[in-house]
Amino acid sequence: MRIDPDFIVVGAGTSGAVVATELADRGARVLLVERGGASPRFRAAGARMSGIRTEATNTGVKLLSGVGVGGTSELHGGIALRGFAEDYARWEHRAESHEWGTERCLADLDDYLVRRELVREFRDASDFGAFGQGFIEAGISSGYPAVERGFDSLHTLGVGVMPVLQTTGGRHASVASTLRAALTSTSALETWDHTEATRVVIRNGTALGVELSGPRGTTYVRGGAVVLCAGSPGSARLLRRSLPEAQAANLGRRAGVIRNHYSRWKVIDGLEESVMPPTNLFGLAAATYEDGLHLRVEAFAMAVRDRPALVLSATSYTSNSEIELGEDTDPPILRMRDSQALQRAMEIADGLLGETSLESLLGSGHRGRPWLKRVRSAHHLHGGAPMGSDPEGATVDADLRVIGTDRLWVADLSTVPTLFTNNTHLLALVIGYKAGKALVTEKA
Ligand SMILES: Cc1cc2nc3c(=O)[nH]c(=O)nc-3n(C[C@H](O)[C@H](O)[C@H](O)COP(=O)(O)OP(=O)(O)OC[C@H]3O[C@@H](n4cnc5c(N)ncnc54)[C@H](O)[C@@H]3O)c2cc1C
Repeated sequence: MRIDPDFIVVGAGTSGAVVATELADRGARVLLVERGGASPRFRAAGARMSGIRTEATNTGVKLLSGVGVGGTSELHGGIALRGFAEDYARWEHRAESHEWGTERCLADLDDYLVRRELVREFRDASDFGAFGQGFIEAGISSGYPAVERGFDSLHTLGVGVMPVLQTTGGRHASVASTLRAALTSTSALETWDHTEATRVVIRNGTALGVELSGPRGTTYVRGGAVVLCAGSPGSARLLRRSLPEAQAANLGRRAGVIRNHYSRWKVIDGLEESVMPPTNLFGLAAATYEDGLHLRVEAFAMAVRDRPALVLSATSYTSNSEIELGEDTDPPILRMRDSQALQRAMEIADGLLGETSLESLLGSGHRGRPWLKRVRSAHHLHGGAPMGSDPEGATVDADLRVIGTDRLWVADLSTVPTLFTNNTHLLALVIGYKAGKALVTEKA
């Protein structure tokens, strides 16, 4: 590895992969460090499987994340919703910067997707096979209006098809189209996997480099600048270990809150192969919303242990639940505030399953199985190192710079200061893309 990279990027998940690739493509020398290994997609670039990390909270609800090159995008569902205008508006207000408003965020996202991604937006129920059509018919006969075009507003109510990131016949992790290409095409970008950043070294208010632990032993790498993309809550934890005491105490209070959504999945075995959508992994079929509660019931037809199965998932969009980080060794404390909405989601899902159009596809084997009894998983974590214009309540400024520390940035979902009600993967892309474009001017 070259000595003194211009940038050390910590974390090779969605945002880290995008930041690193964008910086390297613009001529910066980048070292990307990732504590996990590489997934099969990245074996060509030389390492082992990525992993799934489950972290128990005080309630037993588990926080899920991907560990390895690709990060959480290696296990996510591929739903590609762009985010609601209301969410960007709250963010723009908190940051006091138009950069984070709907217009600029969506323009950046489109720009990025055109340059890097292969996104197919499934709009026709027939794309999802007999199952997809059955689900939508079930929704319509339950009284939901048909939604023709995406779910791009909190007020879109009904049943329809949501966009999914797909390559030909498969679920698509964004880093496959960014990082892998960059790793093979540019010598300016190097990835060290199985390498954990244990601390950012900061002297006199300036980040100098990162302490690392991995196959090279415990090492210190000096860099022109450090960009944290360790995800939520990874970046907040790393900051806590790194910032001087006075700053860290402040961060400890304000970095402890993370908001999320909940899903509970139920696999129904025995789905006939013929009703499966023509994709080999995930096929999102349909979604329903209900006014006031803002909840969504999703149906996927997918292979579970190589057998076709139906998975239903319920998400409360405005759950507004919070997670407070304890010390590194303590379980995070979860405060759930959405049990009423999730109860209603169960009723909706049960109703849809009872509709003749779905029953004829599924048979009666699903009946009487209690599902969604308890919320077991929490995804879409964000927050922890929130952006804001007021240093008292914010960790980073509108340029993603850690307030009070030079040469240190956070460029992942940790920086989102408000509840983002939609799926978060495209948002992680936007943050990474903005950071990559802007930070290159900071090149040493
Ligand atoms: C089960 C599940 C399903 C989901 N489905 C969808 C979906 O359908 N659509 C959607 O839009 N979103 C979905 N999401 C959310 C989405 O996948 C994530 O929000 C997004 O991938 C997060 O990107 P990130 O870059 O912020 O973090 P991550 O992708 O989590 O990346 C962080 C990386 O940093 C590494 N790291 C952490 N600490 C260190 C350290 N100290 N040193 C080195 N490396 C470190 C981690 O190993 C990881 O690889 C889902 C999430 C889950 C859990």
